[in-house]
Amino acid sequence: MGPLPSSPLVARRKAFQAALLGWYRAERRRLPWREKPSLYGTVVSEFMLQQTQVKTVLPFFERWMAALPDFRTLAEAPEGRVLKLWEGLGYYARARNLGKLARALVAMGEIPRAPEAWRALPGVGPYTAAAVTSIAFGVPVACVDGNIVRILARLTANGTKFRDGAAAAKAFAPLAQTLLPSSAVGDHNQAMMELGATVCLRQNPLCASCPVRRFCAARRLGAPSGFPRLGRRAPSRCAVVRIWWESGGKLLLHGASPSGRRLAGLHELPTAEQVGLSPGSAARLPLLARKRRNITRFQITESIHAHPAVPGRRIDGLVWTPLSRLDSIAISGPHRKWIREVLAIPPKQAPEARSSGLRRIR
Ligand code: SF4
Repeated sequence: MGPLPSSPLVARRKAFQAALLGWYRAERRRLPWREKPSLYGTVVSEFMLQQTQVKTVLPFFERWMAALPDFRTLAEAPEGRVLKLWEGLGYYARARNLGKLARALVAMGEIPRAPEAWRALPGVGPYTAAAVTSIAFGVPVACVDGNIVRILARLTANGTKFRDGAAAAKAFAPLAQTLLPSSAVGDHNQAMMELGATVCLRQNPLCASCPVRRFCAARRLGAPSGFPRLGRRAPSRCAVVRIWWESGGKLLLHGASPSGRRLAGLHELPTAEQVGLSPGSAARLPLLARKRRNITRFQITESIHAHPAVPGRRIDGLVWTPLSRLDSIAISGPHRKWIREVLAIPPKQAPEARSSGLRRIR
């Protein structure tokens, strides 16, 4: 059974709202999109904050706002520039969608206010629509994401086992909506987000300093970390073999098609298959680096192997890029880091050392 809006918390919601809002106004982190609020800044920050922590977003946000200060400038910016500004934040579909959203708004000529209209725009789901319209226009609609589910499950000590986060968000949405105050809904939503990010942490919540601890049933039970109860899918593991092929001062990179879904316009080190090798034979080339990363529920191990430094040939979809131009093209964040690490081999050993694997990196 889901959390019904008839819980004791609902009966005391006015006191709950006041405690939460008082704490937020006094203790919130001073973030640029909060201190100088604008619709555009709210939208950009919400896109950047999807799957990414505040401290990571901060420098990107400042740089973005200086370069592309409004919807019109963004709508007119070439996609390569947009991706370059996003480089390092990951999940590049967000940057492309932000550009599409700006073009859609400019074409509409009028900014919509209804959450339903925002949900029809590129890259905007229920959470972002609620965040943008409540913060920018005061529309009374509650934000519900993983952080807010966690707070609500703990406040109500709801022991339901949910299939996944989406099912839990759906179940808690009525309670989140019921807890909204009649004014300052944007601040209330941001206060809930702030509480989830800084106090009601996934592990070891800081209950002793929580502004709403007197409303919290899980705290009274002494077991807040046990909520919410979510089913978890086992992560899928996979391996990717990549090739470092450097010749004549150029590096071979794969350039994703500008219309592709995942990495449009971005460059990466090519996979073995992309240079015409089987992963098995490529894995026998000297190993330069092995990297692990998680993307959604996938655990990916990527190994980078040095191809002999023979002169390059033309291969469809691959570009020979002068090493001196690497900084001026858009490269996906992890790949830029890996490329820098390999290039950090002392110049007197390069490129032969990199190609022969005489010096290896981890
Ligand atoms: Fe979360 Fe603890 Fe506050 Fe309850 S008292 S809402 S568990 S931080």
